[in-house]
Amino acid sequence: MDPASKLKLDLLFEGIRYSDALGQAAEHSFPNFYPYRFKPGERNPTGQSTAQIPYLLTTSDGTLIRVKGAGDSKWSVVGSRSESYTLIRDGSVGLAVEFEPLPRWMQGQTADGFPMARAGLSLHGDMGVINVAPGCEYFLEKADNVSMRCTFCAYGAPDKRTQHLGQVAGKTALPDLTYQHIQETLRVALGESDLRHLYLVGGSLTDWREEGKRFVEIARAVRAVNPTGIPTACGSGALPDDMLDTLYDEGLVDAVCFNLEVWSKPLFEKICPGKNRFVGYDRWIGSLESAVGRWGRERVYSAMVAGIELEPEHGLSWQEAADLAIDGAEDLCARGIIPIYSLYWPVGGRDHPDYLNRLRSYFERLSAGYQALREKYQLEVWDGFMCRRCAYMQLECDLDFAASQQGRAH
Ligand code: SF4
Repeated sequence: MDPASKLKLDLLFEGIRYSDALGQAAEHSFPNFYPYRFKPGERNPTGQSTAQIPYLLTTSDGTLIRVKGAGDSKWSVVGSRSESYTLIRDGSVGLAVEFEPLPRWMQGQTADGFPMARAGLSLHGDMGVINVAPGCEYFLEKADNVSMRCTFCAYGAPDKRTQHLGQVAGKTALPDLTYQHIQETLRVALGESDLRHLYLVGGSLTDWREEGKRFVEIARAVRAVNPTGIPTACGSGALPDDMLDTLYDEGLVDAVCFNLEVWSKPLFEKICPGKNRFVGYDRWIGSLESAVGRWGRERVYSAMVAGIELEPEHGLSWQEAADLAIDGAEDLCARGIIPIYSLYWPVGGRDHPDYLNRLRSYFERLSAGYQALREKYQLEVWDGFMCRRCAYMQLECDLDFAASQQGRAH
């Protein structure tokens, strides 16, 4: 693995411990979703049990990395905004880094006084992620007393965090005001930041046609304020053909990404019971294939939660899990579908060193195997969909960039 990708993996796994400089950087950086939690006995200059930290850092060669707070990490940050920040390991090896800045619009308000930070726009580097309907109906459904939500999902619960967006369970349409707010926010954000991708996401509906209708509505609203045609991807669940037709025929999106999350029918049934019950594994893959028939190769994606297979109840060694995932990647690539592997982020006590070692071995084996498959099938991640400036916990773009640099050097 090239040094930049290896460093990215090191930081994703080992995290960064708190320092005064990291705390100061939080004041002008895009905020992390997870606050820093101090360990018992850890040096804590804040006097609080948690602290805000930046979300994303960039190294001088342009590698984007998600910041994970970890009190026992050997990595820390020194410096300041005026003198620049340096990443150090055990007090040595200085590497210049920058943090993804806090954009001005996040502190702004719409004309009617609504905070733009709550309008449903978030940033991953140069990608604007639009989520105006985060509540997922699978959280409200049960079968045989089992929740239909995906087992790893901690973000789709429809609750008071989503009320301000006016999303109502069982109702497809969103309020006009929600669209006014996101359109106004997007106009300002596009004028302020150099966004190169827009990604439409949201919670699922139990009827996939209704979900399609909602995403058509969202895509139309976004298209109306995107006059330069920044590449836009539909990150809904799988959709029926007539909804794909509308999205394609109206030119509403340039790519689609229907997340299968995990390869193999038995694992999909267990890990994504709602997707399995309300859409089904075969229909999901069929919808991705239908999308390839419309948008073509390199425009159809499926995000995978890389490492979820290592949960003990699935009984897989890391080697078996990686080989299964690589088999899945080959199957999808052969159909013209490009999987994207986002590293599973273990939470709540699952950060045992042995678990993390197996997860890392799995991810390295999968990443290398999948890179070889992209070469075999002559598939590249389209840089309108995703690039090194937004792939914050995925390696595909970094590995392909390093390979292209190496090729150039020979
Ligand atoms: S479909 Fe699954 S991953 Fe997506 S929001 Fe619903 S429960 Fe979460």
